[in-house]
Amino acid sequence: MSTVFTKIIAGEIPCHKIAENDQFIAFLDINPLRYGHTLVVPKVEVDYIFDLDPENLSGIMVFAKKVAKAIEKEFECNRIGVTVIGLEVPHAHVHLIPIDSVLDMDFSRPKMPHEPEKFDAIALRIAQHL
Ligand code: AMP
Repeated sequence: MSTVFTKIIAGEIPCHKIAENDQFIAFLDINPLRYGHTLVVPKVEVDYIFDLDPENLSGIMVFAKKVAKAIEKEFECNRIGVTVIGLEVPHAHVHLIPIDSVLDMDFSRPKMPHEPEKFDAIALRIAQHL
C-alpha cells in the first residue's frame, strides 16, 4: 500500500506544496510545531532515510537547503532546525522547522491544528523566495 506521501506526490491527496523537482517535494507539515514547519520528501518510496541510495540521501539535503533558505526569508527565527524522525509516516522525510530554542523542536509537545487557508498562504509566501 502506498504511503500518504506517495499519494501526495501522485496528486491523489492535496498538500500545501512549496517546491518540487524530479526527485523531491517539499510541503508544509499538516500539524506543525511552528508556522513554516516543512517536510522534504524523496519521491522514491523508502521508509528509513538511511536506506536511501547515496544520490537521494545527499540530494535531499541539497534540496532542503534551498527550501530552508526560503523559509528563513519568510519567518523570523534564529535558524531552521533539521530533524528526521519517521516514526509516524513510513516514507523517508526531513523536517525543517523555524526555531529560536530547542523547545521549538520538541515533538512531544502538542502540535498546531491544520488551518487549510492559512497554510495555503504560508506555502505561497515561502515559495515566492525560491
Ligand atoms: P514522523 O514520521 O514521526 O517524522 O512524522 C510525520 C509527520 O508528517 C508529522 O509531523 C505529521 O504531522 C506529518 N503528516 C502526516 N500526514 C501528513 C499530510 N497528509 N500532509 C502533511 N504532513 C503530514
